[in-house]
Order: sequence, then structure tokens, then C-alpha cells
Amino acid sequence: MKPTSPLLQMTMALVALCTMLVMLADLLFGVFPNPAESQLKLRKQVGEALAVQVATLLRNGDAASLQQTLDDVAQRSPSVRSLGLRRADGVLLMQAGNHGAVWKPLSDGASTEDEIDVPMQADGKRWGSFEIAFKAETRPGWLRWLTEPLVVTMLFMSVAGVAVFSLYMRRALQHLDPASVIPDRVQGAFDAMGEGVVVLDTRGRLLLANKTFRTLNAQSTQIKTGQALSAQAWIVEGLGGNTAQHPWMRAMSERRAISGQTVEATDAAGLAQQLVVNSVPITDAGSKVRGCLATFSDVSQLHRANVALRKAMTELSTSQQQVQRQNAELKRLATRDPLTGCLNRRAFTESYEHLFAGAQATAMPLSCIVLDIDFFKKVNDNHGHSVGDRVIQEVARNLTEASRAADLVCRYGGEEFCVVLPGVDTRDARAYAERVRARIERACGPAIREVPDMVVTVSIGVATLTPQVTTTLELIDRADQSLYRAKRDGRNRVEAYAEPAPMPESAAA
Ligand code: GH3
Ligand code: MG
Ligand code: MG
Repeated sequence: MKPTSPLLQMTMALVALCTMLVMLADLLFGVFPNPAESQLKLRKQVGEALAVQVATLLRNGDAASLQQTLDDVAQRSPSVRSLGLRRADGVLLMQAGNHGAVWKPLSDGASTEDEIDVPMQADGKRWGSFEIAFKAETRPGWLRWLTEPLVVTMLFMSVAGVAVFSLYMRRALQHLDPASVIPDRVQGAFDAMGEGVVVLDTRGRLLLANKTFRTLNAQSTQIKTGQALSAQAWIVEGLGGNTAQHPWMRAMSERRAISGQTVEATDAAGLAQQLVVNSVPITDAGSKVRGCLATFSDVSQLHRANVALRKAMTELSTSQQQVQRQNAELKRLATRDPLTGCLNRRAFTESYEHLFAGAQATAMPLSCIVLDIDFFKKVNDNHGHSVGDRVIQEVARNLTEASRAADLVCRYGGEEFCVVLPGVDTRDARAYAERVRARIERACGPAIREVPDMVVTVSIGVATLTPQVTTTLELIDRADQSLYRAKRDGRNRVEAYAEPAPMPESAAA
């Protein structure tokens, strides 16, 4: 069963105490009159007063006035049923309101609530009595009980007391400062902490906040003891409106520490503020959760430094990429021919020497081709230098596309190219050269759109590394010699270097 709230318990206790005090006062001092007794007393007094008047009229022998007085009283008093003047021998001398029928003789002569009997004296002896019959009470007993002053007061105190006391207690508890019951040295220790510290009750209401918390930001100064931390505008802004998910509430419901949650707030200077919240539930000896301790660490400076560092790193990486791009571009400019994008002589020579030495050391095949555009002077002469340049570019593009990544494609001279093919023997080098020649013949002319029916052909000389070849230039020279043969034998063809046959021994001799 859910225990009732302390607020309700205290309210009920206060109401009970107050009603008890009222009852005690009534018991001791009779503060609340008994309605029946009061009524009887009052009616007796009325009877006495009327009896005096009746006696006076009787003495004067004014029977008509007496009758008139009785009739008037019977008519004007709604509670009076009848009145009668009876002699001591029981004879009814005068009446109003059919008193003879209404009046029931009193058992022991004592008046009741409904029938008042006032004895009348003459010459010191009882002469008769003046009788008044009142209308009987028609309300049910419980209703009469309910209207009794004591009962009405009790009921009022119970209902109004619960409302008033609970309202008062709520306010009083809210403004009650539990901090005042915290010893000074404990508060002092909390205040000395660099982190904002709050102690909350089980419903997340503030019991204690240290100095750092109260100066954390512009809004944290506003919070009052007894207010719910989760209801603070800056907390709702930073953590959302789902109170159950706030770290201190989770710490209490999950009965474990909830660490490292960040709250975005605004500091006193209006700057964005990052607070890291760590919450630990506070339990009693019976491990029942009694509240929560939450700390707020301002990591804004660290955060700002991190942001600045990240920005600097991004800028650095951007400029690094720029440098890399520029370096690559520089390298390209330094190693490539600007018109064709092929390797220039210097870069080619460097790589070629490397490959050449490797092939020599490992006996891996290495071939070289030299390519020259046929009758190129005529292109320049007939169509101009720019068309000549376009033809050189198209030949270079086809040559490059036909080559592998490992091949060194170099613009060797004006319209002359040299390709070094590592790992390729004479047969394959020849086949490669033939593919290149055919491709250029087929594709280069039509690619020069500014000159219709353009025909571009090349002649190619092929040479492969043999033990007889000792230098890089020697191999190129052999390919060049083959090229010369191809030119001489009609152009648009491929010629491979053939090792001269050894001289017959007889001839040598
Ligand atoms: P062959 O078939 O014997 O090779 O005849 P050819 O006319 O091609 O003769 P050669 O190879 O000697 O011609 C070279 C010409 O290439 C000379 C020069 O005007 C031209 N040339 C060299 N470099 C460039 C260049 O960068 N652009 C242009 N448009 N022409 C160039
Ligand atoms: Mg040439
Ligand atoms: Mg030429």
C-alpha cells in the first residue's frame, strides 16, 4: 500500500488536534449549548412572561382582553399550537387554538419541550396554571443532530480545516529552509567545492545548493529551496521537458549513479555554457532512496578550447590538402610535358635508368620503342601549328591509353615519343607497337575535326635489352635505328632491331 504523504498526515493530525480541543472546551465549559435545553428554557421564559400578563388581566377581570391576548399569541407565533388557562381543579377556563383537545396532561407536572405549564398563585396558594402547547418538532432525529452547534462546528472544522491546513502546510514546507538545519561546517564544505552541488529530495525538490551552484549561471541563482530542479526553465531547455529522464530523477528511479550528461545553458555573460552533470542517489541504512546528490561541472572553457582546436585542425588539414595538391601539381609540372601530359625527358631518364638497372640485375626483359609522326612538317605547313599541336596531343593520348601503368611514355622530341616497356620481350613489344600504330592510323585522323579526311600515321622502331646493350642510350639508339629503317621502308610501319649476324670466322680472319 502506498503510504500517505507527510503533508496529508500532518494536515489530518492538525485537524484532529483542533477538533479535540474544541470538544474538550465544550466538555469543560459547555461552550456549545444543548439545543433542546435551550429551547425549553426559552419557552419557559416566554410562558412565564405571558403568565404574568394573563394574571394581570385576570385580576382586572378583563375576560375579553384576556381572550383577545391569547388568540393574538396563538395566531402570531407560528411555533405555538394552543394556549389555555386551567383552574387547579382541571377546568379549562379560557383557551385559544383548541387547547382542550391539543393539551396532553403532563405526567409529573413538569414542562416538556412541547408543553409548558406555568403555575399561577393566588393568595399564596396554587390557583391554577397557564398552559402553552408548542408545535412538535417534525425534522428527523439525524437532521436535528446534524444541526446541533457542536456537530456543525466539527463538520466545518474537518472540511475547512483540511483545506486550510493543507494549503498552509504546503506553503510553509515550501518556504521552510532545510538549509538552516544543515550544520555550518557542512554547508561550508559544500561551498568550498569548485563544482555546483545540489541535494534533492525524492521528488527532485531542492534541499541544499552550494555557492558554486548558485553562481553557476544567471538562472541558477533564482532557484529556491523546496522548488523542483527539473521545473527550472534552464534545465528544461537543456535537458527537455521529460522530467523522468533528467539524470537526478533517473539516478533515484534506477538506484545508480548517472554520470556525464551534458546540459547546455547560458552563463551570466550570455555565452553558451556546457555543464556536465553527475548524479548519485542517497540511500538510508535500509537502502531506501532518500534523495539525490547532483554535481554540475562547468566545462565551457574546455569545450571552447576543444572547438577552437577542432577548427584549427580542420584548417590545418585543409591547408595540408592544399599543399599536397600544390605539391602534386608542382611534381606534375616538373615531370610532365605540358602539351601532352607525357613524361618529360628529365623525369623519363630518371625512371628509365632505374628500370634499366633493375632489368639488367634480374635478367627481366625490357623493351623500348621510338615513335615518330610521318610527314609531320606537312601538317604544320598545310594546316598550321595549332592543328599540328592537336595531332601531337591525339597521338600522345592514344599512345598513353594503349600503355600500362608501369610503362614510361615520354615525349622525347617535337613529334617523337619514346616508350619503355618493363617485363616485355621483343615479340610482345613488337605486337604492342603494331597495336599502337594501327590505333593511331584508325583514330587520330578522325579526331582532328577541324581538318576533314585527315590521315595521321606513325613509324615505330622497337629494340629489346640484350646482353650486348650496356647503356640506356644504346637501347634507345637501337630503337631509333629501327625507326629509321621503318621510315626508309615506306613509313606507317613497325621495325624491330635485329642483332647483326656474327661475322663468319673466315671473313674475320
Ligand atoms: P618524317 O616522316 O620523315 O618524320 O617527316 P617529318 O615531316 O615528320 O619530319 P620531321 O620528323 O623531321 O619533322 C619534325 C617537325 O615537327 C619539325 C617541326 O616543325 C615540327 N615540330 C616539332 N615540334 C613541334 C611542336 O611542338 N608543334 C608543332 N606544331 N610542330 C612541331
Ligand atoms: Mg621527327
Ligand atoms: Mg616525323
